[in-house]
Amino acid sequence: MTDIKALTRENIRSLVPYSSARDEYSGEGAVLLDANENPYNGPINRYPDPHQVELKKRISAIKKVPVSNLFLGNGSDEAIDLLIRAFCEPSRDNILAIKPTYGMYKVCADINGVEYRDVLLDDQFRVNADRLISLSDGHSKLLFLCSPNNPTSNSFEPEAIKELIGRFEGLVILDEAYIDFSTRPSFTLELERHPNLVILQTLSKAWGMAGIRLGMAFAVKEIIDILNRIKYPYNISLLTQQTALKSLSYVAAKEKWVKNILEQRKLLQQKLSRFAIVKDILPSDANFLMVRFDDPKSVFDFLIGRKIIVRDRSRVALCNGYLRITVGSAEDNMLLINALNDFSSVQSSRIPKMQHP
Ligand SMILES: *Cc1c(COP(=O)(O)O)cnc(C)c1O
Repeated sequence: MTDIKALTRENIRSLVPYSSARDEYSGEGAVLLDANENPYNGPINRYPDPHQVELKKRISAIKKVPVSNLFLGNGSDEAIDLLIRAFCEPSRDNILAIKPTYGMYKVCADINGVEYRDVLLDDQFRVNADRLISLSDGHSKLLFLCSPNNPTSNSFEPEAIKELIGRFEGLVILDEAYIDFSTRPSFTLELERHPNLVILQTLSKAWGMAGIRLGMAFAVKEIIDILNRIKYPYNISLLTQQTALKSLSYVAAKEKWVKNILEQRKLLQQKLSRFAIVKDILPSDANFLMVRFDDPKSVFDFLIGRKIIVRDRSRVALCNGYLRITVGSAEDNMLLINALNDFSSVQSSRIPKMQHP
């Protein structure tokens, strides 16, 4: 049984959290003279609900996770940072992770002065539990796993994830940013069985709300309470809470988007695979494709010339030669394919000239 208290940093354990004006009163229709707000320009003159009660109720109903097991942050990035600050003592504790993976884990560890130990995935992008566990010691507090993984686009076997949750003595942070595109079920259904599991999800991808910045963390109440104690009091703006609440009622729209994106992913994969310049496409469980070229830099630059921006991952470990391409709308994807057609014909008209001067 995980002892959350023992994992928590001493200063966080003994922290007296900031108490905001709105903590003392949460009813409606009152004369609010408690927070030094401007009485004009309603409703944005008022501080937002620091506990995001309405929004959490909605998310709780959608995700089938009790409100007490839910934390909301300014993007998943806030939850990543708070987890490190709550549990990792700078210059003493360490974090385990896989490689390659989402860049923010290491950036947050570095900012907080916490050692980051990563283990290369194998040649089929599988995670090696023995190697990860052998790198851990009494100061290993967090283990970051991302599934489906960015940038490799694969999901890990549920059994492999469970093995790590079972063997690691700190908290396993499972980042499910791409779970809506995955064929695998979310681990939120398994939360009760795993007190050392924290699941991260976001409204930035499938829900189409990257602009409002809303990330979610799911975990046992003890962990959620710690995150709530150390977050900025009003970390989720009124506009974000209102917009999220409204957009989350359009579940059918989100499901249609996901369906479209998955159809487009398949189509794009088929079209890309016909190009001679495309050497490989990784099987994807997410909303992007990893595509290998002999000369990724030239393709990348050519696309930029066409104002088509993809992500160059060609120098990332195990991703040699790959560009990461987000699945766009049908129109976006067509423009990409047209541009690659043009790139290919420029290439093939050039090569014979060079061979026969
Ligand atoms: C895009 C992405 C996120 C989303 O972060 P937000 O701060 O919620 O926008 C989280 N994790 C991974 C792996 C991602 O690729």
